[in-house]
Amino acid sequence: MYLCNACGTQYPPSDAPPGACPICEDQRQYIPHDEGQQWIEWRTFLDAHKAEIRDDHGILGIGCEPAFAIGQRALLVKSTAGNVLWDCAPYLDGEVVERIGAEGGLAAIAISHPHYYSTMVEWANTFACPIYLHEAERKWVMRPDPAVRFWDGETNDLGGGLTLVRCGGHFEGGQVLHWAEQRALLSGDIVQVIPDRRYVSFMYSYPNLIPLPPSAVQRIAAALAPFAFDTIYGAWFDRVVERDGSAVVRRSADRYVRAVTEPGLPS
Ligand SMILES: [Zn+2]
Ligand SMILES: [Zn+2]
Repeated sequence: MYLCNACGTQYPPSDAPPGACPICEDQRQYIPHDEGQQWIEWRTFLDAHKAEIRDDHGILGIGCEPAFAIGQRALLVKSTAGNVLWDCAPYLDGEVVERIGAEGGLAAIAISHPHYYSTMVEWANTFACPIYLHEAERKWVMRPDPAVRFWDGETNDLGGGLTLVRCGGHFEGGQVLHWAEQRALLSGDIVQVIPDRRYVSFMYSYPNLIPLPPSAVQRIAAALAPFAFDTIYGAWFDRVVERDGSAVVRRSADRYVRAVTEPGLPS
């Protein structure tokens, strides 16, 4: 079984590497210019890495060392309706399984967008749980599996005060997770946490710096307007906005729209 070296997506079992990675051929990712498309066998990948499991601002984060592919970490959300793994990361070994088992296992997996689908089927099979993805991203599932449940519409109530909100933007079916009890938004890179924590940002392609049209950014802000949150958890360890989350999204959307519509440089 092979993983794409650049995005960490796992493909269905095969003797030879897949011919191409459609996720990396898309404008929102890239084929590395120096080495071209590279693949790594699942076991080889596991042998060359180890788990990184640590608290990230009150939520357990799970990734690996050294960093691999896009380098995101998953988050273990412990709600009254059971544990939900938010976003997914490629690395999964006995240590991770044991730790999550000690926390009560997984009731579900939900992933913001295709860049983080990674080894989701491996995780779903291990923990015998479904994966919730938005219907609009069906074509980006590279390893189809009965565990994948597509949902349609704008919000999906998972119980326990957890709501998937379809924001679109970076991906048409881009979703974020609102956690009412913790007043938190888990945003992957649909809402991007940036160095200045008073703001966030939004892009069609992050590596290739392709912006979104104003209508898409306004749509993200409108989708999140009904939800109150303080903390925003981005896609990597320590990429966290600690306060005023709702206001941060509003003011960032306003700034973005001004920057891409008004003549002259943003002030
Ligand atoms: Zn790839
Ligand atoms: Zn992305």
